[in-house]
Amino acid sequence: MVQVMFARCGKGQLLVVLIVATLIRCSPERSLQEVATRDTGRHSNAGAVVLPSFSGDSAYFWVQQQLRFGPRVPGTDGHRQCRDFLVSQLRRWADTVWIQRFTWELYGTTYELSNIIARFQPHHPKRIWLTAHWDTRPFADEDPNPANRSKPIPGANDGGSGVAVLLELARIFAHHPPAVGIDIVLFDAEDMGKSSDLERFCIGSQYFAGTLPIGRPVYSINLDMVGDHTARFLLEENSMKAAPELMHQLWQIGSSLAPQHFVFESGPPVFDDHVRLIAVGIPAVNIIDQLLIGHQDSDPRRHYWHTLNDTIENISPATLKVVGQTVLQWVYHIQ
Ligand SMILES: [Zn+2]
Repeated sequence: MVQVMFARCGKGQLLVVLIVATLIRCSPERSLQEVATRDTGRHSNAGAVVLPSFSGDSAYFWVQQQLRFGPRVPGTDGHRQCRDFLVSQLRRWADTVWIQRFTWELYGTTYELSNIIARFQPHHPKRIWLTAHWDTRPFADEDPNPANRSKPIPGANDGGSGVAVLLELARIFAHHPPAVGIDIVLFDAEDMGKSSDLERFCIGSQYFAGTLPIGRPVYSINLDMVGDHTARFLLEENSMKAAPELMHQLWQIGSSLAPQHFVFESGPPVFDDHVRLIAVGIPAVNIIDQLLIGHQDSDPRRHYWHTLNDTIENISPATLKVVGQTVLQWVYHIQ
């Protein structure tokens, strides 16, 4: 992930958030019954809403599997091998999986890029998109050691975590079809832009939004940097403008599961893949640990964004579970 455009956070915004949050229909009691497990079996009494459980351990495994390929930088073997791995896994679970191939010129080099699209119930008219970027940054330009700044980042959190949560959700959707059609879209080339060159970030989502190879969704949810041990997800400003009701519903569920992670505070706008979708009129939001960006957090352990320290040690199965369970509960409660 990307750049903060500017910061704006006021008491007035927070007041509105808290008032609206009391008006939406959600059931935190049900969500708190969930326990981390590899099992995706049903957990409900007869007549109650069937609610699968998201496994943080499985999601963690999916992060590890991506890291096996090394950095997933466009133009490299690791990128191609990881793409093939993601497609083969998604084909186990989705109704249709295909690659949107395209080329893009960046800083004098033409890259072969791939957005990966996995569709569940492709003929269902009402659709939800769940998205993340699967590429990793080619250069660790925020690394404290200047000698590292031309090396690619490992991308455990920035790239790996969002994809991992979506893979685990795909596994669950295969066993428990939701009442809506789901499209999982993994965007390529999110993180190739040089610092402050926003137009060269989020290339895969820009191409996808420009071509719209599948029908528009009711809502789209992007996941980026969702695995840190002490992640703090704020109400990102672009998301709040695009789909405030969806943000309130997600944060209501998330904060009932883990108030330390889903925080009802306004966050500054972040330029990420959801912005490309918003630009073509899609109500898209972003769940992102945005205090990682620019090393803003007070905890020095969390100063690994766009450095060689974006490694598995910073990833928590418990955090992955909270994010996955939040999205899962929202998906299974909408009609
Ligand atoms: Zn990044």
